[in-house]
This record gives sequence, structure tokens and C-alpha cells, in this order.
Amino acid sequence: MRYIDPHIHCVSRTTDDYQYMARCGVVAVSEPAFWAGFDRSSASSFADYFRHLTDIEPKRAARYGIDHYCWLCINAKEAENVALSREVIKLIPPLLDHPRVLGVGEIGLNKNTRNEITVFEEQVEIAARYDQLILIHTPHLEDKHKGTSIITSILKNDRRIKPERVLIDHCEEHTIRVARDNGFWAGLTIYPVTKVTPQRGADILEQFGPQMICVNSASDWGESGPTNLTDTCLEYLRRGHTEQEATEIFHNNPCRFFRQCAKWKVKPVA
Ligand SMILES: [Zn+2]
Repeated sequence: MRYIDPHIHCVSRTTDDYQYMARCGVVAVSEPAFWAGFDRSSASSFADYFRHLTDIEPKRAARYGIDHYCWLCINAKEAENVALSREVIKLIPPLLDHPRVLGVGEIGLNKNTRNEITVFEEQVEIAARYDQLILIHTPHLEDKHKGTSIITSILKNDRRIKPERVLIDHCEEHTIRVARDNGFWAGLTIYPVTKVTPQRGADILEQFGPQMICVNSASDWGESGPTNLTDTCLEYLRRGHTEQEATEIFHNNPCRFFRQCAKWKVKPVA
């Protein structure tokens, strides 16, 4: 089977992970810009990070036959520093034409603070002005429903934003409808320590149906990994779903969302 991991932080992963993904049939990945696990001290750190995402990591992935795309932004965790955020946001527009950049992300909220909302709105403005796809990070803990609702109402109030060009990630049972009922794509993150296990992921796919859902591992520097994506697919198949049904979810759905950006080259398979 062929897979796509639509959300993975490859800069934090080992060559073993790339080899594992290649053996399992992962043909492409998309890597949103994220928190490094510590707050960066200046905008020049982000300039280097963006070069890592756009130029270095695609070459590294290509050695394993994996097509690597990325997204640019300042993440919600570092958005408390509005002055730094604005310096970083200025770096983004000149890079949006880069052939590996799919759009603006993962932007969103972490603790739903006023500063986070300000920086989120300023990045939505960049995405709208430059007609970019958007990838959204939603808060992880008890604030998830509230944060998801704030994000979707900001996006819906901007007439320039087409919901089908936005992926709301880290959805769970109580937020998946908030995303899809408003016309957005929903991301399902299989990250057992703080988010969803493979079994619960398969439950959600069965309960809500596979339309407009992209399953990802969001593997980063924490206890996570690309096996969570393939384990979810195996669990889905073990329950009697066909390989074609699994391919629709784990390969074709991400293709359908990403190919709204002309730079994305992987096509859905039958
Ligand atoms: Zn992420």
C-alpha cells in the first residue's frame, strides 16, 4: 500500500524513521513549521529553520524516495512574543513561491490567549492575501473545543478564505464536526501519549466516515513516530475494510487536499 504522512516534523526524526517509512510505502510527507521544543531567540533562527524546511529536508527525504513538502509560519507556542512573531511573519511572503512550500501552517492556538489570536489573525491575512492553503494546529487539552471554535469562526468571518482549502488538524471526537460541518478538512493525529491511539483513530474513522479526513502521525521530538500512521491503517484493515478503502484515507485524501496547491505532484491511486 502507498501512504502519505500529511503532518510530520522530519527535522526531528532519524534516518531510521525515513527507512521505516520508505519500507512501509510512504511516498510523500508534508512538514508544517512548528515549535522546536524551546523558544527561539530571534527571527534569524526562523530564517535558518525555513531554509532547513524548504531546501535541506526535501533533499534528505529524497534519498529514501520520499517527496517532501512543507509549510511556513510562526507557531502558536511562540506567538506570545508578538514583536518577534511580526519579524518572523515578514520572512514568509518571499518564500511562498518556493516549489516545496504548500502554504501557511501550522498556525492556530495553544492556550487561546489574546496574543495567540492576534498572531493567528495576522497569518490568516498573509494566507488570504497570497491565496495559500492553510494548515491549522488546534489546542491539545481541555481547551481544544473552545480553541477550535475560535479558529473556525475567525476563518468563516473572512470571505476570502475557502474552507475546503483549510485543514483543521488534531481533531478529536468532540471537534471533528466543528471542522467538517463548516466545510473544512479534518486532521486526525495518532500520537498515543497526548492524543489519539491507533485503535481510537480507527474508531473515529468508522464513526464519522472517511470523507475529508487526513490521518497523520505528527511525529516530532516527543514520544511519537511514523509507526502510528501505519498501525492505524493496519487496525483499520484488521476490522475488515478493504485496501482500496484504506488507500482512499491514507493516500488519496491527503492528495485531494494538497493538490489544491499546484506544486503538489502526487496523484490519487485506484
Ligand atoms: Zn505539528
